[in-house]
Amino acid sequence: MRNYLKVISVLLALCLLLSINIPAIHADGHGKPPKDDLPKYQVDVGTKGMVATSHPEATKIGAEVLKQGGNAVDAAIAIQFALNVSEPMMSGVGGGGFMMVYDAEKDKTVIIDSREKASSGAEPDMFLNENGEPIPFDERVMMGDAVGIPGTLKGLETAYEKWGTFSWKKLVKPAEKLAKHGVEVNWVLADAIQDNQEKLSKSAAKEVFLPDGTPLQEGDMLIQRDLAKTLKMIEKNKSDALYEGPVAEALASTVQSFGGTITTADLDNYDVTIDQPLMGTYRGYKLATMPPPSSGGLTVLQILNLLESYDLKQYGPRSPEKYNLLAEAMHLAYADRGAYIGDPKFVNVPMEGMLDEDYINLRSQLIELGKANKNVEPGNPWAYQEGENPGYVEQPNDKKTGQTTHFSVADQWGNLVSYTTTIEQEFGTGIMVPGYGFMLNNEMTDFDAIPGGANQVKPGKRPMSSMSPTIVFDQNGEPFMTVGSPGGKTIITSVAQTIINVIDYGMTPKQAIEEPRIYSPDYPDIRWEEGVPEETRHQLEQLGYKFDEEPRDIGNVQMIRIHPNFFLGAADSTRQGRALGIDYVKGGHGPKNK
Ligand code: GLU
Repeated sequence: MRNYLKVISVLLALCLLLSINIPAIHADGHGKPPKDDLPKYQVDVGTKGMVATSHPEATKIGAEVLKQGGNAVDAAIAIQFALNVSEPMMSGVGGGGFMMVYDAEKDKTVIIDSREKASSGAEPDMFLNENGEPIPFDERVMMGDAVGIPGTLKGLETAYEKWGTFSWKKLVKPAEKLAKHGVEVNWVLADAIQDNQEKLSKSAAKEVFLPDGTPLQEGDMLIQRDLAKTLKMIEKNKSDALYEGPVAEALASTVQSFGGTITTADLDNYDVTIDQPLMGTYRGYKLATMPPPSSGGLTVLQILNLLESYDLKQYGPRSPEKYNLLAEAMHLAYADRGAYIGDPKFVNVPMEGMLDEDYINLRSQLIELGKANKNVEPGNPWAYQEGENPGYVEQPNDKKTGQTTHFSVADQWGNLVSYTTTIEQEFGTGIMVPGYGFMLNNEMTDFDAIPGGANQVKPGKRPMSSMSPTIVFDQNGEPFMTVGSPGGKTIITSVAQTIINVIDYGMTPKQAIEEPRIYSPDYPDIRWEEGVPEETRHQLEQLGYKFDEEPRDIGNVQMIRIHPNFFLGAADSTRQGRALGIDYVKGGHGPKNK
C-alpha cells in the first residue's frame, strides 16, 4: 500500500513538473534564457531528498552526501565548501551567512548566524573622507576596512557539532579535490571575472583569476592550489585552521596591509550566534524567516502582510494591478527598513511594532489601487511597541546590488536547510589571502557610511543584511517550502514574490522562480525582469512609475516544495544552478539526527 502511494505521489510530482513546458537546455548559457527555453536540470523530484544550488558541481557533491546517508546539514556543509571553489566570487570561508535549519525530529527551526562582525579597531566614521563626506561605494568596497571578521567556517563547524553525522573530512574532501583538479569556468564566473578585473588585480587573486593578466574565459579550467591547501588544513583542524595559526596571521596582516584593522585577536574572539527565526504569517501559512541583523524577514513579512487584504489572484500574475500593489507595498516596507533596523545586540529594533496588525492596517491604508503614492515616508512602529528609537541618518544611494548565493537541502528524515551565504559584492573586496587562496568579504559596507543611525559601525557589531533564508509551513504546521535568494536589497522582493507566486497563484517551484520579478524600493523607479508585458508597463507608467529602459535579472532563487511523500526542487536560470532529487539512499536509512 505504501509503495502504491509512493508511485502515485511520484507520478503526481512528474505531472507537476511537466505542467511547466521545459523543452531544451539553454544553448549558450548567457544571461537568463528565454522563458520557453529553460534548462531541464533545474527542476527535479526526489522521494528521499533534494538539493538545489546555484552550481551543478555543488549540487552533485551535496546530493552524494545525502545518497551516502548524510543528513541535510551534512550536505549543506559539503555544498558550502564546494561553492567556495566553484563560485569563489559569491561565498566562502572569507565571508558569512545565515543557515536556517528545520530539525524534523524536534519540529524546531533555528538559525546559525555566521554574519561577519566589525573588528575591535573599527570606527563609526571609517567610511568618511577627510572632509567628512562618505567615500564613494566603488572605493569603500576595496578598502581593508570593508573586511568584516569572517564567520562562515565557524558557522559550519557549529552546525556540524549540533547536527553533523558524517565524517567532517568527507564533507571537505570533494571541495578540496575540485580546487586541486579544477572546475570549469561557467558564464557566471567568466562574467564576474571580466567585470571585476580592477579589484582582482590588486591582490593575490590576479594569479588565480587573471593568469598572465588575461581574465579566465568560459570553458577554461579554474585551478585553485592555494585554496586546496587551505581546505586540506580545514579537513584536519576544522575552524582552528583559519581562526588561529598561520592562516589567521596571514589574514590579519593582509587586511592591515590594505589599511584595515582586523587582528588575530579579533579572529580568535569571533563566534557565531544561534538565533531563533522571526515568525510571521501570510494567508494562514506560517513563515520562519530571518530576524535582525537582517532586514530580510521583517521586510518580507511587511510586504506580504500589507498585501494580505487584497485578493491578488483575481488579477493576473503579470497584470498592472498586481505590480501596482506590489510596488506600493515595497515602497512602504523599504521606507521602514531604511529607518529602523540594525544589529539587535546593539540597538533597539521595533520588530513587534513593525508587524503589529494595527500598524500594518494603518500603513496599508496608504495603498490605493490605480495610484502611485509619490511621497512615502517611514511609519512609526514605535507607537506600537515600548522602547526608544535609536535614530536614523539619510545615507548616500550609491550602494551596488551585491551578489551572494542561496541553496536549499531536504533529507530523508524531512530535515531542511535554507542557507544564504555571502562575501557581499562579487569577489568581496577583491582581496585574496596570499598563499591560502580565499577571498575576503566587503560586508562592512553593509553598515551606514554616515554614522549616527541604527546601522552605524561599531566594534563587534554586525552590519544590517537583506539576506532572507525562509521556510514556510502550511496551515497544519507542516513544512511547505524553503526559499531564498542573493541580490542585496533585491533579495527581499525576490523572496516575497516567489512566496506570492506559490501561495496566491498556485505555481510550481520553477514557474514561481521564473515568473518575472520587479524591484522597486521607492517611487518612481522600477527594475524589471524580461516578461513583464509592455502593456502592463505602459499602464503603470501612466500612474507615474518609471520602468528601467531594459529588463535585468533580479536575484537567483533556489527553492524546495515539500509534499507528503516527495520533494520538488528548482533552481533559477539566472545562473547555472541545478536541482537534484534523491530516490535511493545507500544502506537504506542512514544514521538519524544526533
Ligand atoms: N551583503 C548582502 C546582505 O547581507 C548579501 C550580498 C548580496 O547582496 O547578495 O544583504
